Amino acid sequence: MAKVYKNATVLAGSELRVMEGAAVVLDGEHIVEITTDYSGPGIDLDGAIVIPGFVDAHTHVGDRGAKDMAVGLPTVEAVSPPDSVKYRYLQSLTPEELTRSMRSGAREMLAAGIAAFGDFREGGVHGSELLKNAVRDLPIKAVIFAEPTVPPGEWPKYLHEAAEIGEAAEGLGIGDITLFTADQLTVLKGALEAHSAKLAIHIAETRKAQQASEERWGASEVKRILEVAPDLLVHMTNADSADIEATAAAGVPVVCCPRTNCILGDGIPPLYQLWKAGVPLSLGTDNFMFTSPNMFREMDYFSRIVRGQSNRPDAIEARDVLSMATLGGARALGIDDEYGSLEPGKIASFIVIDPKSPNLQPVRDIYSAIVHRAGLADIRLVVARGQELHRGGTER
Ligand SMILES: [Zn+2]
Repeated sequence: MAKVYKNATVLAGSELRVMEGAAVVLDGEHIVEITTDYSGPGIDLDGAIVIPGFVDAHTHVGDRGAKDMAVGLPTVEAVSPPDSVKYRYLQSLTPEELTRSMRSGAREMLAAGIAAFGDFREGGVHGSELLKNAVRDLPIKAVIFAEPTVPPGEWPKYLHEAAEIGEAAEGLGIGDITLFTADQLTVLKGALEAHSAKLAIHIAETRKAQQASEERWGASEVKRILEVAPDLLVHMTNADSADIEATAAAGVPVVCCPRTNCILGDGIPPLYQLWKAGVPLSLGTDNFMFTSPNMFREMDYFSRIVRGQSNRPDAIEARDVLSMATLGGARALGIDDEYGSLEPGKIASFIVIDPKSPNLQPVRDIYSAIVHRAGLADIRLVVARGQELHRGGTER
C-alpha cells in the first residue's frame, strides 16, 4: 500500500544531495520514488529534514544490560573472554534474560534512528540464534558476526564451530588474532568462504596487542590479517602508518569506534590518517557497556578528532561523516543494496529531524548541523521498514 511523506528536505541518494520540498513515496517497506514534483495527499512533514537511517557497523548488543559496570577498567578486564566483567555478566543470564535484554537494545537503536547494525555476538551459533530471535519482529536489520564458544587453542573444535557459524550467521567475529597461527587464519578464511560468510576482526585495538603480535609473530596485527584478505576490520586504534597504507591498498573496510576506544584508554584512533589514506570508513558505537548507541554522538566525535589531529578545520566535510554513518556502514556490512541511502528500491528506513528545534534553529549548513549539533532530542519521527516508531522504539 502506498504511503507518502511530503514537504520534506530529503538528503537523497548516495551523494546525500539536498532535495527541498520533496516527497518520499513508499510501497510497504520500500521506497518507490523521491520527487520534488508531488502535489497529492500524504503525511505533511512541514519542512523537516529526512536522512537515511543510520548503519551502526559495530556493536555488542549482548552487553546491553552491563551498562556502566566496567568503566575505569582496562580492555582485557572489561571485555575480553573468558573472565572479564562482560563475560561474567553474560554467564549470569539465562537465554531468556539475554534475549529480552538484546531486544531492549535493538529498540534503543531503533529509537535512535539506527536501521541496521553489525553485531559481534558471543556464544557461537546458539548466541547468534538468540539475537535473531530477539529482533525477529522488529524493523531493524542485524548483521551477525558470531564468535565460537571455545578459544582457538582448541583448534579442531574451534574450526568446526566456525564452519557452523558460516552456515548460520553472516560471518565470524574474531576478538584476538594473536591466538592464531598464519595457517589457521588461512584455513579459517577458506572455511568461511565456502559458506559465503565474512571474516570480521577487532584489530590493533590496544597497544599491548600490537606489541604482542610483533613479539610473537614478527608482524603487526594488521599485516597478519591482511594476508588472508579479511572482509571487515574493527578499530585500528593503534595501527601505524604502514598498517594504514597497507589497509588502504587492500581496500578493506574499517569500522571506527572512537568513543569506545577513548573511554577504554586504548588511545585516540588515527582517524585523520585513515581518512587521508582513503580507507573505506564506517562508524560503530561498539559496547553498550560504555557507549550509547547514538550515531549523532559518534559522528560528532569522529569529525572533531579528524579536524583536531590534522590541525585543519577543513580536513573533512560533514557530508562525508554522515555518509560514513549511513552508506559507509551499509557497504562495510554488505547490505548497501537495501540500506544506507534513500533511493528507489531500497528499504524505507529514515529519520525525520526537526529543523525548528531550539538546538538546530537556525540551520545554515545542513550537513554540519546534523553531524555537529543534532541529537536524539531533535528526532521528530523514525520510520523503519515503512513503520512509524514512537520515541521509545515501539511500532505505532
Ligand atoms: Zn567490539
